Amino acid sequence: MEHEIHGSSERSEGGREAKQVKVATRVARMEISMPKVLRATRAHQALEGCAEALRSDDCGSLYLKSFRSEKISCFWSHSWHGGPWMKIMTLLVHYNGRAAVLFSLCFSLISMVLFSLGILPGIVRAPRSPDWKWSSWSLISGFVVAVVVLLLWRPREPVFLDRICINKNNMEEKKASIFSLGGILKRSEKMMVLWDPTWSTRLWCLFELSAFLKSRGSSEAKLLIRPTFLGPCSMILFSGICFVMLPVTTISFNPSWWPFGSLLPALGALLFLFIGGYVMVGALRAYFRSLETLQERLQNISFDDCRCACCDLGHRLEGVDLLCDREIVKECVSIWFGSPEAFEDCIRSELLAAVTWRLKQDVFTRHWSLSVTIPVFWGFLDLAASFAIIHEYEEALSFIIEGLVLWLLCGPILLDFMTWLAFRYCRRASSIRREICTNLSLLLVASGGFLVILVSYILCQGFLNERIWYATAFFGGPWCIIAVLQFLYKVSHRSHRSNSFSLRSS
Ligand SMILES: [Zn+2]
Repeated sequence: MEHEIHGSSERSEGGREAKQVKVATRVARMEISMPKVLRATRAHQALEGCAEALRSDDCGSLYLKSFRSEKISCFWSHSWHGGPWMKIMTLLVHYNGRAAVLFSLCFSLISMVLFSLGILPGIVRAPRSPDWKWSSWSLISGFVVAVVVLLLWRPREPVFLDRICINKNNMEEKKASIFSLGGILKRSEKMMVLWDPTWSTRLWCLFELSAFLKSRGSSEAKLLIRPTFLGPCSMILFSGICFVMLPVTTISFNPSWWPFGSLLPALGALLFLFIGGYVMVGALRAYFRSLETLQERLQNISFDDCRCACCDLGHRLEGVDLLCDREIVKECVSIWFGSPEAFEDCIRSELLAAVTWRLKQDVFTRHWSLSVTIPVFWGFLDLAASFAIIHEYEEALSFIIEGLVLWLLCGPILLDFMTWLAFRYCRRASSIRREICTNLSLLLVASGGFLVILVSYILCQGFLNERIWYATAFFGGPWCIIAVLQFLYKVSHRSHRSNSFSLRSS
């Protein structure tokens, strides 16, 4: 957020200081100075037109998208100097991700049923059985629906976004909005920080954070910190897994060449895993690197080192003297926390620990990994449909169960392993060549996990080919045990940090 408080007619230094203190005292009261400035907009309206509000500089008509609201569900705090597309992708994943997963799952199930009933056409994959048509509808429809819902879903949560909710065309109203920022934050249920490396260097972003934490008092603050790299990283992982599943549902093979003939789609998946997996490893490492930067920036947070427009302009614009935002903000923070240094210390000691722990542990939740790895299940729905159409219902059902095992148990374990590797070795290498080598080595290690899953699957199928249910049980059983053990390990190692925390104020 970037604001500037114009219009001090005071030329003398002392007069200006007195005015700054007066303004700070007014802002620090956290009151709404004009009822009509307490406004919100629906999240989907803020994301309309490819999130025009977050991209374009022309914000004349955006104000019309806001409405008066007594309560704001979420206050979006972000820096105007960060990349807009990363923020937009992160918001889309945050608000529309769940709906995208649910709708795509429904559509892939419907596609499976329609194909099984012979309504949808299929492709020939086994050249010796040209009449046997195979489905890849579930994977394709799932992917298309997920993308469409992600882009077009309309979340209705009332949010505060400065560019929409502050009337920039009316100077008096704009001024009242800035004076009321503390009050607006006080009336916001939660605050979402769209974090990028520029965020902690902007004065007004720090002001928003301090006002929000102060307004919660001793009660716990619901602060969501979302590094903007999370959106693109999730999208890359999801698309990468779709890409890996593509050969499973499309590559031609010959079942009579068993076992090599039926191995072809799996080998194709392995090849695609190398391409898709490389990108995924790179994305995950970049995410953890961005967390390290966040940690570093919060560690060195300082009001004196922050940038604000007024100081950049030398406190003079078009012949009018400007008040110094920095001085006003520091004065406010002194009223709330005792001194700017006390607030900075609180950030370093309490917020830093809570935030970094949560961004490592809580972002990659079970819910997140199931959303990202759902294309694995779609691929198996296609295999099930391809057997159901030739009336091999037992085989079809076993594919559905195996798909569930791979999606619900194996996928998250493998992804956890990959995330752990990426976190452990996220440091940027000294040269591009070394960077590529690091990505490839990590991918190779992660592929080891994939190979274990693949080999155990093929062995069960190979040895128990005639007894489908034994094969499914022998494959699924050990993974169930591993998943339970992993769950117990996670529960026992989880500290009792909650989703919100409080910051002591003096
Ligand atoms: Zn200044």
